[in-house]
Amino acid sequence: MTSPYRLETISIRKIKSIGTKRADALETAGVKTIQDLLEYTPRRHLDRSMLIPINKLEENTEVTVMGDVISKKKIVRGKRRLIVSIHDGKGILDGVWFNQVEIFDKIFKERQTVAFSGKASRFKNWQMVHPDFDIISDSRETLHTGQIIPLYPGSEALRKAGLNSYGFRRIIKDVLKEYQSYIPEILPENLIKKYKLLSRAKAFEQMHFPKSQEMLKQVFRRFKYEELFFLELLMALRKHFYQTPAQAAQMNIDNDLITKVVESLPFELTQAQRKVLKEIYADLRSGNPMNRLLQGDVGSGKTVVALVTMLMAISSGYQSALMAPTEILAQQHYFSMADLLKISVKIALLIGSLKSSEKEEIHQQITNGEIDLIIGTHALIQENVEFKKLGLVIVDEQHRFGVLQRAELIKKGIYPHVLVMTATPIPRSLALTLYGDLDVSIIDELPPGRQQLRTFWRKEDKLNLIYEFIREKVKDSQQVYIIYPLIEESEKMDLKAATEAYRNLKKNVFPDFKLALLHGRIKMEEKEKIMDDFKRGETDILISTTVIEVGVDVPNATVMVIEHADRFGLSQLHQLRGRVGRGSKESFCIMVTPENINEIAQQRMKVMEESTNGFFIADEDLRLRGSGEFFGIRQHGMPDLKYADLIYDKNIVQTARKDAFDLVKKDPYLKFTQHQTAKEYFKQKFVEKFHMKHIA
Ligand code: ADP
Ligand code: MG
Repeated sequence: MTSPYRLETISIRKIKSIGTKRADALETAGVKTIQDLLEYTPRRHLDRSMLIPINKLEENTEVTVMGDVISKKKIVRGKRRLIVSIHDGKGILDGVWFNQVEIFDKIFKERQTVAFSGKASRFKNWQMVHPDFDIISDSRETLHTGQIIPLYPGSEALRKAGLNSYGFRRIIKDVLKEYQSYIPEILPENLIKKYKLLSRAKAFEQMHFPKSQEMLKQVFRRFKYEELFFLELLMALRKHFYQTPAQAAQMNIDNDLITKVVESLPFELTQAQRKVLKEIYADLRSGNPMNRLLQGDVGSGKTVVALVTMLMAISSGYQSALMAPTEILAQQHYFSMADLLKISVKIALLIGSLKSSEKEEIHQQITNGEIDLIIGTHALIQENVEFKKLGLVIVDEQHRFGVLQRAELIKKGIYPHVLVMTATPIPRSLALTLYGDLDVSIIDELPPGRQQLRTFWRKEDKLNLIYEFIREKVKDSQQVYIIYPLIEESEKMDLKAATEAYRNLKKNVFPDFKLALLHGRIKMEEKEKIMDDFKRGETDILISTTVIEVGVDVPNATVMVIEHADRFGLSQLHQLRGRVGRGSKESFCIMVTPENINEIAQQRMKVMEESTNGFFIADEDLRLRGSGEFFGIRQHGMPDLKYADLIYDKNIVQTARKDAFDLVKKDPYLKFTQHQTAKEYFKQKFVEKFHMKHIA
């Protein structure tokens, strides 16, 4: 049964105990509806039985104490401070504030019940300096605080409106009284039964007013499952959508031609490349649309796999498109593919910097089928290119080919096979969830004959020695990258730093070598020229920001110096480093940092020195950052998680995944009666945000 109320549409202003002032403060904090209030999750729960009585405190240990405010003193003589003394029936403790005395003076009132958390130390009384605090009750009346007290996230604005933990409990109590019976269950009933989950209404009630620790455990078990179930439902529905319509071009691949192409390559394919090509071959011939992710570390040879895949489609009479994230990369693909191709295929590069007459001509040739293989940026799809017979889309160096872009193609009546290539290994523990909607192929072997790539971490004071090293290499006709960090928040300053470093190096350090500077602000044509010169060996040292991060292939470049390496993340460092060690000469990556960097940054440097294995680095990255951060990355096209953690809760992930995929297998459009509330909720939460309109 669906509820007569949709709690996500009812304003908090309907609640009597929420006056205008509170409503305004809540709305500013993003809490607008009854549903938002229910979902206003306590930041932690305080269990009275775990509180330490003040007369039992020990010096210098982290504790929480609770008591009534018995006095409040503002001391103005000597060091200005506020002292708030509390009594818990056993002893007295002083909370002391030296900063923002006026603000804290307004927060505390005598007779309140408060909790202080921090380290206590003994003077005349026990004392805590700048404790974390919560107002438990405004009077000594602690009636509706049970054994376990929820503490809510707050802000100064909320507190000013009277919304401390106590205030929140009061209004949420009113909300539950009026609306609890209208909180709909959104999980299918059979799952609730199977796992003995709390009902949603009960879970909200117990989250805000828990009866016991055990109940609280059940609350979070339910919400974690719910969250992961809907996440996996999104994946399952996506996967189903990718396979819709069930039929795609069934390709009649010209095997002889493919063999001929492979034999004409300047190298033997690796085992891993062959294995992956077999998987792709089977997809293309199956008659079902391919939706495959190709994961392969930097330098593992994805480009040639892409080329052979496109030839499979072309030999079956279809056009193929390859999309790269930047024009530089599109161009590079164009040249390396034209280079590798020993058979006649009509290939075109379509990028924004072309003259409009040139563009028009290419558009025309794509429309009338004269061109078989089109390489461009993602704009390829957005621009109004009409393909004659597009059968395959390959996306390079992109975490995820947007569902939106695919939807756009499908709108045009095009149902291509899709291959997404990425050089960013995803930790194995996350891969199944992050790419649960795609089939995955992995190139887990580098081509033979690569020289060792050695990585060193050096402090800034060694720069002169590093420059000496560079000098030797350049004299031996090898090339060098020097990378400077550039992040959006400090773009201007970073750009200035890179530019100044370039000038200094050119004038004072390497006046006898050819240097060039590359960054995102340089005009397209100039960028191309700079890259081109570097490729042809006309430039010795390329100073660059991270614009060269992905895919650039200059085998003669053997040294990369990364300045301020501590400012880069692990996967970015790994990507950058992949630009060297691509030829037959021994290569070096030197990460330079200031003398003192924090512990986590030090660990990142050590991981880089220790390993060149992308999967290992990804696992370490996950360990150092935690899955929250890792997962939050929107580019994975995933919703954020509030309760569950993909690593910590991996058992629930597995269960939820199986349940969601089973459900979609039976009911891919969520039409069954027993799935209506789940569908309602899914529509509300996911349809807009994740382009799932076909479900609605
Ligand atoms: P990535 O996977 O990073 O895109 P590339 O496709 O650019 O890697 O390949 C890196 C280099 O390795 C290129 O110069 C490419 O020609 C070469 N290469 C690819 N496959 C092989 C192979 N099987 N044997 C030898 N060299 C190869
Ligand atoms: Mg590549």
